[in-house]
Amino acid sequence: MKEFDVVVVGAGPAGGHCARILASKGYNVLLAEQHENFERNNFSSAATPLETLKKFDLPEQVVATPWNKLEIITSKITRTWNSSEVLGVVFDFAKLRTFLAEEVKKHGGEVYLGYRCYQNDGNIVYLRNKKGETIQAQSKVIVDATGYSRSIMYRNKKERIPFSKAIGIEYLIQVSPEVYYPYANNLVFFLGHHWSPSGYGWIFPMDNLKLKVGVAQIDEAHHILKKIEVPRYYIEQIIKDHIGIGIDDYHLIESHGSIIEYSLGLNDCYYRGNIIAIGDAVSTVNYLGGEGIRHAMDGAQIAVRQIERFLAGDVKDFGDYQKEMLKIYRSCWSKSEQLSRKVYLQYSDARIDQGVSSLKYLSTKEILDILFNYRFEQYFKGIKGYLWKKITRIFASFTIK
Ligand SMILES: Cc1cc2nc3c(=O)[nH]c(=O)nc-3n(C[C@H](O)[C@H](O)[C@H](O)COP(=O)(O)OP(=O)(O)OC[C@H]3O[C@@H](n4cnc5c(N)ncnc54)[C@H](O)[C@@H]3O)c2cc1C
Repeated sequence: MKEFDVVVVGAGPAGGHCARILASKGYNVLLAEQHENFERNNFSSAATPLETLKKFDLPEQVVATPWNKLEIITSKITRTWNSSEVLGVVFDFAKLRTFLAEEVKKHGGEVYLGYRCYQNDGNIVYLRNKKGETIQAQSKVIVDATGYSRSIMYRNKKERIPFSKAIGIEYLIQVSPEVYYPYANNLVFFLGHHWSPSGYGWIFPMDNLKLKVGVAQIDEAHHILKKIEVPRYYIEQIIKDHIGIGIDDYHLIESHGSIIEYSLGLNDCYYRGNIIAIGDAVSTVNYLGGEGIRHAMDGAQIAVRQIERFLAGDVKDFGDYQKEMLKIYRSCWSKSEQLSRKVYLQYSDARIDQGVSSLKYLSTKEILDILFNYRFEQYFKGIKGYLWKKITRIFASFTIK
């Protein structure tokens, strides 16, 4: 049986980054992933602000395209924010995870692709590939980086706590240069009952004239709408009515998707014995727009610090990791949950139009603060600005008379 300091199960952004740092520090690490290659579950639309590249030391090769424009579209309103500078990038999600796994190997760690962890027992992890070949690995620490499935932390369904479930589906389409051009460098988000009730939609640019068109829906009843169509209906509506092309005008390269299971209030199990959970396995994905890559990697870095202390015998459990994560995320994520659930599941279409309309008084920096730094006080500043302008306009009309 092979022996490791740390076995990381799941080679998403959280697991890949965690194993990469540990391997670079000289620990004996195994990164195990159930898929044989990263094209197999290339589900994420993978947009991120620019800081992510520098913060996690990521090279240009993992970037599909930069963006410097943001657009929010509702049933009646379109709001746009521009910058002359690059504001962020859309990753090539497969290349990002390939890079992280390569880094693990470069630093002397082992990577088993195509191996699913089907059981874990104390210090032993059992892995099996599609041919039925099994490997047993012994490890001082086991990292659950299996995303929403949390398959190491919860051994069976009965143990699982309740989660808020969302489904995200995306089309990767190839279009002509004329169709592509308005979307190059542009993140477009859709809100409201027409485009994407119970969630949001998006068009993100990729390289080589490719666009990602997707919709995410929370799997719960809408407070106003009785019937919601399946995500594909809204994706095809965005392609037909917003991009303005018919089925013969684009090539559907692939359609992919995944599930997000998020613990409202962050009540996830962060550790049990020598198991520590990171990334989506502890709901690091933000509820507002499903941005999770940056936070999965951030959480991995925090986990590494505690894993080192655990391996050195300085701590007996990962309680400090849970404390640190909740200190960073709980209050901020809770505001995000509350706002998102109102917009996605409760508000009338007119109210969503009105809310987005009020954002016109915000600068590009302020809108980035809402979407990527979750500073919702900016939103209320926008509403105050909107009301103030309205009052001034009414007042002006009286004084002219
Ligand atoms: C449709 C969609 C669009 C998104 N768009 C964005 C976006 O634009 N920007 C952004 O920042 N985030 C986005 N996200 C969220 C982001 O992709 C996730 O938050 C992020 O991938 C979480 O990383 P992770 O490593 O925790 O989990 P994952 O990326 O889910 O990785 C978990 C890995 O574990 C493997 N695994 C699971 N079980 C086992 C097992 N038993 N044995 C071995 N391997 C196993 C899985 O195959 C997978 O590779 C999106 C999510 C979805 C669903």
